[in-house]
Amino acid sequence: MIRYIFITGGVVSSLGKGIASAAMGALLQARGYGVRLRKLDPYLNVDPGTMSPRQHGEVFVTDDGAETDLDLGHYERFTGVSARRSDNITTGQIYRDILDKERRGDFLGATIQVIPHVTDAIKDFVLADPGEGVDFVLCEIGGTVGDIEGLPFFEAIRQLGQELGPERAVFIHLTLLPYIPAAGEMKTKPTQHSVKELRSIGIQPDVLLCRCDRPIPETEKRKIASFCNVRPTSVIEARDVGHIYDVPAAYHAEGLDAEVLSHFRIEGAPRPDLTRWNEIAHTIHNPDGEVCIGLVGKYTDVPDAYKSVMEALDHGGIANQVGIDIRLIDSEQFDDEHRPLDILEGVHGIIMPGGFGERGARGKMRAARFARERAVPCFGICYGMQLSVIEAARSLAGIDLASTTEFGEADQPVVALMEEWTRGNVKEVRTAKTDKGGTMRLGAYPARLTQASKVAEIYGQREISERHRHRYEVNVEYLEPLEAAGVHFSGMSPDGKLPEIFELPGHPWFIGVQFHPELKSRPFDPHPLFASFIKAAVTQSRLV
Ligand code: GLN
Repeated sequence: MIRYIFITGGVVSSLGKGIASAAMGALLQARGYGVRLRKLDPYLNVDPGTMSPRQHGEVFVTDDGAETDLDLGHYERFTGVSARRSDNITTGQIYRDILDKERRGDFLGATIQVIPHVTDAIKDFVLADPGEGVDFVLCEIGGTVGDIEGLPFFEAIRQLGQELGPERAVFIHLTLLPYIPAAGEMKTKPTQHSVKELRSIGIQPDVLLCRCDRPIPETEKRKIASFCNVRPTSVIEARDVGHIYDVPAAYHAEGLDAEVLSHFRIEGAPRPDLTRWNEIAHTIHNPDGEVCIGLVGKYTDVPDAYKSVMEALDHGGIANQVGIDIRLIDSEQFDDEHRPLDILEGVHGIIMPGGFGERGARGKMRAARFARERAVPCFGICYGMQLSVIEAARSLAGIDLASTTEFGEADQPVVALMEEWTRGNVKEVRTAKTDKGGTMRLGAYPARLTQASKVAEIYGQREISERHRHRYEVNVEYLEPLEAAGVHFSGMSPDGKLPEIFELPGHPWFIGVQFHPELKSRPFDPHPLFASFIKAAVTQSRLV
């Protein structure tokens, strides 16, 4: 029997609903249960693929090639369960599917309405087969209760609550208990209002997860319980913690998982084995030194844009028992040739994450050159890899006009749209693509590594699979002059047509990858490239 946990949010956004859901999943897993986490996003975009990182943060890509909400990254990192396309849905996707059916005449003349057609589609999404061995499906509803866009989602889960019954559906509501310094009190009113709003649409929460910055007095817990019609033990304190990986143990200590199981009337559940979380927390809070990593990107004012990269760097830190000080460096400021790169002087490693467009690209190439010439460990990811290759082409291989067609026409297209050099007719490819969504190479693809290479040593295997999200590729036609200049392409697609990885053999650690290794890194299973990069940064820190 599969049970369902619905996680909603109230009062304000950004309370960490994604992390709360992920932590809840981790706790059930620690008790030996199989979990799958799903996210329902009420916005109208079909997926976040076309949204600016400024609006939405990172786009998380699944193995099966879906562009999804960044919360799916938290789910994967906390549970180790790879997300699938069928784990994220948006209002836009639902309406698109319904309208496609309507145009095909599938509704046989019926009037299409939010209830039941949209709500049924939402219910189908929630109930879709979660795969083998899953005991609990956790569904997080994006946004906060009261949002207009969210209503069909709340209505759908309300119906599911009725249909599944209390032993198969539990509702957790995440709220905020602000502390008002002038009054010297923690205020419960916003939580009361939020629950009232939820109950007005027919949902009585079972458990209240209350974000706060200090302990909740017992009197306040009882007050919340009585005003919100929940048991006092179901008012769970979710106090701020030092690190996100402290959350599962902290919620367990407050009784969250026990309370949820008791609502399901599950008795005698195994006690959770939190060893791996305690070990991670111990390493994070007792580092043996710290390294400083410069993250050179265009969206450094919105750190959510680099969520998985920053997490993967932390995992690399866990693997090496060191703390990571991430310095977010805006690449655009270095587009100006005259601007000195002194900010990079003290860093022990440089990472250049993915990106799009010409702005900030020159700055990234200057950072790549700095790392190459100064022997600073450097990790180029996707766009970061492409720009490092262009920099090397110009500086080392004498390909003076090396460029990417992402900037426009290029005389020496060292990086180009895949079709431009496989099909030959650029114009045709460009004009055929009017639909901007899903026009990229997306999802997991295999690659083969050269035997005598640093990456083969790092991975400890020669066949790998990594997730992609890009339109452009390094042009194989330039491989020969690049190799001759000392740029070693140590990873290729199995057909040998797509360069996947390059490394600079004479350099302490300079690796560029066309894919996104950060998406597969987990705190208890750090990605080997991140672990190795941080190791190189530790060595660098001892030199400077
Ligand atoms: N803009 C580049 C491309 O489309 C890189 C994309 C990325 O870094 N994700 O190929």
